[in-house]
Amino acid sequence: MNTQKNDIVVELKDVNKWYGEFHVLKEVNLQVRRGEKIVICGPSGSGKSTMIRCINRLEEHQAGDINVMGTKLTGDLRNIEHVRRDVGMVFQHFNLFPHLTVLENCCLAPIWVKKTPRKEAEALAMKYLERVRIPDQAHKYPGQLSGGQQQRVAIARSLCMSPQVMLFDEPTSALDPEMVREVLDVMVELANEGITMLCVTHEMGFAKQVADRVIFMDRGQIVEENTPEEFFNNPQSERSKLFLSQIL
Ligand code: ADP
Ligand code: MG
Repeated sequence: MNTQKNDIVVELKDVNKWYGEFHVLKEVNLQVRRGEKIVICGPSGSGKSTMIRCINRLEEHQAGDINVMGTKLTGDLRNIEHVRRDVGMVFQHFNLFPHLTVLENCCLAPIWVKKTPRKEAEALAMKYLERVRIPDQAHKYPGQLSGGQQQRVAIARSLCMSPQVMLFDEPTSALDPEMVREVLDVMVELANEGITMLCVTHEMGFAKQVADRVIFMDRGQIVEENTPEEFFNNPQSERSKLFLSQIL
């Protein structure tokens, strides 16, 4: 691939993070190019969530550099705000506001952060709710929806901010099995539309279908980076072999 400097949308350089005494991220290096789809996997507790939460500064790193769309993440609140406008995030547990309708959940950030007029924000929200195939749920509350529907609302809500990069943290692992597919289908469509995506997931079918690279983390380090085919069929490190033998 012809890589120019400005094609790199997310860059982690020698990133280290501690929770108190616990060294959770150790010299993490990662470059993500525009449009790239990256799947991150690894054992529970290996630092996957922490790493992606550092990218939109839900967690703070203590050493090394993180650059997102050309902005370096420091304690400067303006930089953090800037980066969060460009980076959407979808969590395992949806994190919708229970007292707001689906439509209101989707309009909140465009109205309050981007100062989009309400009518315009609602039209945009309806467009994305159609895209995730639940426009008929717009006036319901999250508690009235299935898990799969709630997660699709969470994806639509993120898209309403027109993010340049989407972060997903195990978006299907809290769902009943029959709802996983409907969420993955939406994610595959998004991936095919060219958005840059970092996704923590153990859904191998998804990884094989969309990932340009699979990143395997263990004990706070990136242990292996590979194509999905190579990673799943011919893992290089002992730790990834052990991990795959446990999830397959
Ligand atoms: P993963 O997403 O790969 O399961 P996490 O990034 O959630 O891993 O956590 C990595 C390690 O850091 C785990 O040992 C976890 O217990 C610890 N950890 C996560 N969040 C905190 C926190 N806020 N304070 C202290 N330790 C934490
Ligand atoms: Mg996690």
